[in-house]
Amino acid sequence: MSQTKTRDVYMVIGGNGFLGRHIVQQLLDRGDIVSVFDIVERYNDVAFYAGDISNQESVASALRSSGTTCIIHTASPHATLNNPALFHKVNVEGTKAVIAAAVETKVRKLVFTSSAGVVFNGEDIMDADERLPFPDVPMDAYNDTKAQAERAVLEANGKGGLLTVALRPAGIFGPGDRQVMSGLYQVYERGQTHFQIGDNTNLFDWTYVGNVAYAHLLAADKLETPPPAPPVSQLEKPPAIADE
Ligand code: NAD
Repeated sequence: MSQTKTRDVYMVIGGNGFLGRHIVQQLLDRGDIVSVFDIVERYNDVAFYAGDISNQESVASALRSSGTTCIIHTASPHATLNNPALFHKVNVEGTKAVIAAAVETKVRKLVFTSSAGVVFNGEDIMDADERLPFPDVPMDAYNDTKAQAERAVLEANGKGGLLTVALRPAGIFGPGDRQVMSGLYQVYERGQTHFQIGDNTNLFDWTYVGNVAYAHLLAADKLETPPPAPPVSQLEKPPAIADE
């Protein structure tokens, strides 16, 4: 006998941003119901809820009105802003408010966009995986608050039946980007391209935005049941970190 799977109703928080918009588009393309919660309005093809994630009541009210069963939370201030208080308000307090609103309204799933920067402290990292711990001294306020948000999301797994997952993209590029290419172009326009840091062998991870968005859809789809625990032998293997 075949079983019919219940289809989720999605809310993309930060869905009017670069990555968020790609996630919304991919959900629409596969025929899902999706709404957006954001502080800015940019598109008019899905239900839109204006609000700040640090206001739990706004988030809970939007979740109730939309009948959301799966939240994809991509909202964050730009990493380039020099504003630790804003990072804390949105990333830490805001993410905790999203979790509380999700539990309050009995949302089933929460997918959180973290950042590869949560484990970066300026030292080279190669072949690391999710077992690499957060550094004792975080890189900066942005990455520190992303790490605190990620921890809160993962600790909320199972709370009130909520299933959670966090993804850590590195650099994201592609159509709609408002940070990376404009930053590189400004460097070019200002004639600042004649500096070289390192010996030209430095590596950095970049992922096409469509692939990062797709990873969020896959993570949401796989959140039906918690994954089995990995074998103990794998847990004991220390992550590889490159020598200086
Ligand atoms: P973006 O600025 O284009 O999108 C973020 C969206 O969040 C915006 O639409 C913004 O209005 C919204 N937002 C900000 N504060 C909010 C608040 N208080 N309440 C509600 N909405 C709010 O950024 P992006 O590049 O699409 O990044 C999306 C996510 O991916 C972020 O969480 C970021 O930390 C993470 N990330 C981005 C990169 C990258 O290279 N762009 C790399 C790693 C991780």
